[in-house]
Amino acid sequence: MPSQPILRFAPSPNGMLHLGHAYSALFTWQAAAQLDGSALLRIEDIDLARSKPEFTQAIFDDLHWLGLDWPEPVWRQSERFAAYVEAADKLRAMGLLYPCFCSRTEIAAHATGADPDGAPLYAGTCRHLSDADISTRLEHGDPVQYRLDLQRALALTGPLTFTLVGPTMRDRPQICYAKPERWGDVVLHRKDTPTSYHLSVVVDDAAQGVTHVTRGRDMEAATDIHVLLQFLLGLPSPIYAFHRLLLGDDGKKLSKSRGSPSLRDLREAGRTPEDIRHQLGF
Ligand code: GLU
Repeated sequence: MPSQPILRFAPSPNGMLHLGHAYSALFTWQAAAQLDGSALLRIEDIDLARSKPEFTQAIFDDLHWLGLDWPEPVWRQSERFAAYVEAADKLRAMGLLYPCFCSRTEIAAHATGADPDGAPLYAGTCRHLSDADISTRLEHGDPVQYRLDLQRALALTGPLTFTLVGPTMRDRPQICYAKPERWGDVVLHRKDTPTSYHLSVVVDDAAQGVTHVTRGRDMEAATDIHVLLQFLLGLPSPIYAFHRLLLGDDGKKLSKSRGSPSLRDLREAGRTPEDIRHQLGF
């Protein structure tokens, strides 16, 4: 019997939610309803310096205000580091992780281009460090991050594909090719936290039985890495749906840093959840 569809909305509590988040959340709950499934809320707080409990509380308050509900308990990624370390250890045992000691400046200076997010593409400087060099630098306490050796990883996979559906869940799914090579040797264990966005999201989507990942089009390219990690870790690959992005008057994606009003600002200015849903087309 096919399992019940499970979707998720997974905000990072490092700022207040704005209309773009509301759109993403409403899209996810609508998609869950179209599929006769359920939507989970997951708090993606791996960035311990930027995540704040008051932002997590505001996520709960704002989503409830919009009329959304989710099953408890809500998973918080800051409580799941052991699972991410275990996944990284599995990749390490396969010879697919290597330590990188480069600073941001060194990475930028030797970049071989830009990744789909516009970040410098890592030149692989630390890929061939000797064991002796690695031990010396680790003993010295040099800040270290761990990267995926992409060429080695790709030698284990055939062409990687994923299933895309949308804009509505009733549309016919398509098979798409993933292009992980455009990301280079991504970081899977950061200097400041023992995981990365890519690793934790893939581990948790599998652990929570997520069948459909809904997120904004700005994150579509990350699927390349997610399906690669799912293959390497032996995890199921969900179906993906990417929704449109809300743009501000400047034509750019809404963001707190560009002064988009938060949902709380809108609420305090007298807007109602019905107004917001109507404005966003839900
Ligand atoms: N936590 C991510 C963010 O807030 C989104 C997670 C995801 O959809 O994979 O941007």
